[in-house]
Amino acid sequence: MQQLRNLFNPIKIGKMELNNRVVMLPVTTGFAEDDATVGDRFISYFAERARGGVGLIIIPFGPTYVGCPMQPSLHDDRFIPAARRLTDAVHSYGSKIAAQLITQYHLITKEGGPPEVVAPSPVPNVMMRCTPRALSIEEIHWLIEEYGKAAVRAHQANFDAVELIVAGGYLLNRFFSPSSNKRTDEYGGSLENRMRIILEIVDKIKQRVGEDYPITCRLNVHENMERGYTIEDEEPREAARMLEAAGIKAINVYTGWHESPVPTVQHSVPRGAFVYLAERIKGVVSIPVIAANRINDPVLADRILDEGKADLVGMGRAFIADPELLNKAKEGRIEEIVPCTACSNCLDDMLSAYRDWGTQTKPAISCTVNPRAGKEAEYVLEPAKRAKKILVGGGGPAGMEAAITAASRGHQVTLYEEGDELGGTLLIASIPPYKDEMAALMRSLIARLHKAGVQVKLSAPVEAKTIEEEKPDAVILATGGTPIIPDVPGSHGKNVVTAEEVLTGQKEVGQSVIIAGGGMVGCETADFFTQRGKTVTVVEMLGRMAADVVATYRPFFLARLRAAGIKMETNAKVEEITDQGVRVSRNGTTDFIGGDTVVLAMGYKANKQLAHSLGGKVAELYSVGDCVKPRTTKEAIEEGFRIGLRI
Ligand code: SF4
Repeated sequence: MQQLRNLFNPIKIGKMELNNRVVMLPVTTGFAEDDATVGDRFISYFAERARGGVGLIIIPFGPTYVGCPMQPSLHDDRFIPAARRLTDAVHSYGSKIAAQLITQYHLITKEGGPPEVVAPSPVPNVMMRCTPRALSIEEIHWLIEEYGKAAVRAHQANFDAVELIVAGGYLLNRFFSPSSNKRTDEYGGSLENRMRIILEIVDKIKQRVGEDYPITCRLNVHENMERGYTIEDEEPREAARMLEAAGIKAINVYTGWHESPVPTVQHSVPRGAFVYLAERIKGVVSIPVIAANRINDPVLADRILDEGKADLVGMGRAFIADPELLNKAKEGRIEEIVPCTACSNCLDDMLSAYRDWGTQTKPAISCTVNPRAGKEAEYVLEPAKRAKKILVGGGGPAGMEAAITAASRGHQVTLYEEGDELGGTLLIASIPPYKDEMAALMRSLIARLHKAGVQVKLSAPVEAKTIEEEKPDAVILATGGTPIIPDVPGSHGKNVVTAEEVLTGQKEVGQSVIIAGGGMVGCETADFFTQRGKTVTVVEMLGRMAADVVATYRPFFLARLRAAGIKMETNAKVEEITDQGVRVSRNGTTDFIGGDTVVLAMGYKANKQLAHSLGGKVAELYSVGDCVKPRTTKEAIEEGFRIGLRI
């Protein structure tokens, strides 16, 4: 059993005592009600994380007239009762809770007024794709007052602390950063002036709620922006000292703006890559320092503490993925933790919603690996009314999730897998560069499968005679899909292989490779080959490469592929494959692209034959995942989960 020597040690942030060193970092969820109050869904979501054992939960709240449609507000006393229900729920599990007072990009400076993108100066905001309006001195003073009033409400609602966010490219970060603050008045220019609004807010909160009410600060200490400041500059470290001197009780270290050209949270970023920033800040302050960014693993978290690099460890998405993470860690069930795969799906909807505010329905986060995220009250795992004998066919994500869910409700489940190992599409998805988290997800599914008591049979395809012999009450088919072979001349030639065959090492390729299909699988396969010294061209029939890759990762991914010298041919439809390469049509003309091997990455087609052949042979027959229609891992897991819950 893995020894975690530090994670569960108590610690104090000012007068706030935490029973462990783990902080659930603020993530905008979109779970607030339309009137910006905290409702049942919001409370259930956070209560479940508190029940999971987290020491401190920090939640973003707007301090002014609703300045963001996706988060709850504390701008009026009417928000206090519901917020108190939230704090009561979290406290009932022994966790502490802080309200992060956040002004993102929009502000409504007058009740009933329009939301405007504002900033210290009219420096173009890449994230919002506009030039913001500069706040007047009067508006800055009004904003400081609003923060003070919101802190009073947080205190009245029994939050244990408040946090200010000077990070992420949000408003206070833009005041602190010389790249976005070009003011020539007392709120711009020198470090003292750029810190002024922040320190005046700290003073205001102390005046309003008392010196000993803990205030923490999430501080961007390394902007990861072109011409942005870095941790090597004196200013971010001096800012941390200034915050401590002003009475801040912990620094929650952060890096990046949402529009940073450098990835900070995507799966291509190694776990714990930015812990060194916390270590640098810890060297200049004596208050507790929280390390963050790409930490999803309690073993890593414990090591960060063990090595003295931080006093607490913050995780955000790790708790979306698995609310029970800490309890599992405490009980030595680390292999059962559902890992956040850093796929960024949860961030994607939220970030696009900032830009499209007012033009679309309010989004909410959902998670690739945890179908219950945000649906805690709706998806309740209750014992089955009658325990059934269930046969699951297929050991990919949909089949394993269905088997785990059904077995944990008391059904007797046997999983048949045709291959000699479990994993299905995850086995392939975990092979390209930077996809290790998919392997972690696969290990977690397998561990939970065994823990749930599912009997696993490998090299065991489901056939009609299996059903006759086993006589199950219900069959869940999750037999996946098969690669699409295009109906063009030469597609069965000796030089043609599928992405699946080469990623799994079943087939070799020549020195120059043409990949037919520029979706995620094709582009990741290209990445895989360039790391092996191959020359690669990706041919895509649509106008966009990697169109199915999330917007928060796609630019970094494509930049890496381009830097690796991968040629990308869009609007190019494969018409013929020859020994020397592929003939493509493009805008009414034809081209020939030469290469030794053609790798097909044109998607999958559903395996439906088994479902057809079993029709009428079993009382309950269900199909889930790619054998219904090839889709994403998220859809496969959710479908498997839902059938396991319903059956
Ligand atoms: S959606 Fe992806 S990034 Fe977000 S919490 Fe889930 S696994 Fe992690």
